[in-house]
Amino acid sequence: MIVLDGKKIDYPLSVCWLENPKWCPKATDVSLRHTWIRGIVLHTVNGKKGPLKPGAKDTGRDFNYARYFANSPRKVSCDYIIDCDGSIAATNDPLQNYTWHAETVNPVTLGIELVQDDDDGGVYVEQLKATARFVSFLCESLGIQKQVPAIAGKPDPQVLTRLKAPNEGNTVVGVYGHRNQTTNRGFGDPGNWIFEELLRSGFEGFNFQKEEDIRDLFVPRFYFGCEADDPMNATAFNTKANPYHAKIRAVFSSDIGHWDVPDMTEVTEEAYELVEHGVFTEENFRDFVFTNPTTLWTGMNPDFFKGTIVESQVSQLLANGAH
Ligand SMILES: [Zn+2]
Repeated sequence: MIVLDGKKIDYPLSVCWLENPKWCPKATDVSLRHTWIRGIVLHTVNGKKGPLKPGAKDTGRDFNYARYFANSPRKVSCDYIIDCDGSIAATNDPLQNYTWHAETVNPVTLGIELVQDDDDGGVYVEQLKATARFVSFLCESLGIQKQVPAIAGKPDPQVLTRLKAPNEGNTVVGVYGHRNQTTNRGFGDPGNWIFEELLRSGFEGFNFQKEEDIRDLFVPRFYFGCEADDPMNATAFNTKANPYHAKIRAVFSSDIGHWDVPDMTEVTEEAYELVEHGVFTEENFRDFVFTNPTTLWTGMNPDFFKGTIVESQVSQLLANGAH
């Protein structure tokens, strides 16, 4: 069982302080949560990289750490401790209090510790799978986007400057490692294994340092059908005004099935008036009526325009690298 905002939730293989306060005591080093949780910080208990091992191992040490955190004079705690078999010791209600696991970002995050094998610091395949499922569950429950720091599909171990002052995690939404928060912790806190598992299970990887990634995720994937002759269409191409100099993929929409187009032969002419009035450049008009519609439909079906009057122009455009 875990507890979110006082609500008891049956979660597979989890035990919380309400069920077994002796084995799994409630975290004592906590502060009152004042703001929404936007990050999940992953840790390994040793903070050093160990091997990846097949299967699972019930070490029982998730409870040892729960007791250690509750009883140690050190000012440390975390929300969940996940054993090498994927079982979870839940020691805090993250919506009511925050724990002390990653210094400055504590007020805006929750912390998860992965138990490492006492022989060699290894983590286990089944433990990683269970952790990815649990992190996914928490992201869905708390409204955190499923994203991790990664560059070109590989987990990014560098310290994120956006987790430092003055923002201290306020502007970072997603799941990251203790190593991304401080140079005091090494690569192995929590290592790459868990991030590779999260990426495999559908988490999006992107460079948290580079805000343009947001643009790169959204702009090429969205197309907007626009009224043919609306002067506001120009905003889509206004790279000086748009955030990150984005050019939005506006698509000419003729409205010819609509009551307010009494003569369908005039629609393109009306649209071209945007150029004549200096609202659009020639290039904007080309993107609006040709480039954007082409990349939209050929993106799903490269042969979409085969056999039509524009077949050769479309092939030419795609051959020139439009996508
Ligand atoms: Zn840590």
